[in-house]
Amino acid sequence: MRIDILTLFPEMCYSVLRESITGRALERGLVEIYCRNIRDYTDDKHGRVDATPYGGGSGMILRAQPVYDCFESLCRETGRRPHLVYLSPQGEPFTQKHAARLADKENLALLCGHYEGVDRRVIDEIADEELSAGDFVLTGGELPALMIADAVTRLLPGVLAGEEAFTMESHFDSLLEHAQYTRPAVWRGRKVPGVLLEGNHEAVEAWRRRESIKLTARRRPDLIAGAALNPRERRFANQIIKGSHEADEGG
Ligand code: SAM
Repeated sequence: MRIDILTLFPEMCYSVLRESITGRALERGLVEIYCRNIRDYTDDKHGRVDATPYGGGSGMILRAQPVYDCFESLCRETGRRPHLVYLSPQGEPFTQKHAARLADKENLALLCGHYEGVDRRVIDEIADEELSAGDFVLTGGELPALMIADAVTRLLPGVLAGEEAFTMESHFDSLLEHAQYTRPAVWRGRKVPGVLLEGNHEAVEAWRRRESIKLTARRRPDLIAGAALNPRERRFANQIIKGSHEADEGG
């Protein structure tokens, strides 16, 4: 898979991408990620990419021309038109489901806005979808683009140790992951749940599943409707949502 980030701050992106799992995936050739500086494509002789908004108002707007030419040069060089995501606080909130869908694309481009935003016409012209990092406003689209590049890269074959490494993680199946523990077995008087120390694999799996459902029902009851639960698990989750203490004890 190839990911291209269209940005005014390529070094900021590379410095994050070079680290940890994305860094190793890049080194091992499991993904290609390039950052393209939108400023390199401006037709302004002073290198400007922004202009004041029509109709007045504060701040500057990223002009359509450098963004479009940057995207065009990418299409020309690769001989393909990538699926382009514009990062925007007005987009659909990004979730693991989006990550899974985007991980199937061979060519993905992430357009980072800046200033007060981007001239709407170029977004309408080239963007396939708009995704948001959440209901808050950032200075630019770089952090959300890196977030997406990271979440997508983790799902690519060979990037994590085994498929289980992400199928067990939060949000894979609409459930939050159970609590995790490592050595020592007692820390500041806090004990690791006994079942995890007994070496009974089936009991561990049952405990993890139950904890996962319990945590999701308590913290994110909105996810429960979309989770694949058997009828008994669903009853358990619904009891927790209703605040039943019995659910916690018996299940
Ligand atoms: N004036 C815009 C508005 O009110 O919707 C916000 C512009 S913001 C300061 C500049 C750029 O940061 C946006 O064009 C977008 O690319 C990016 N950005 C800011 N917040 C974001 C978020 N929550 N998710 C994704 N991108 C975001």
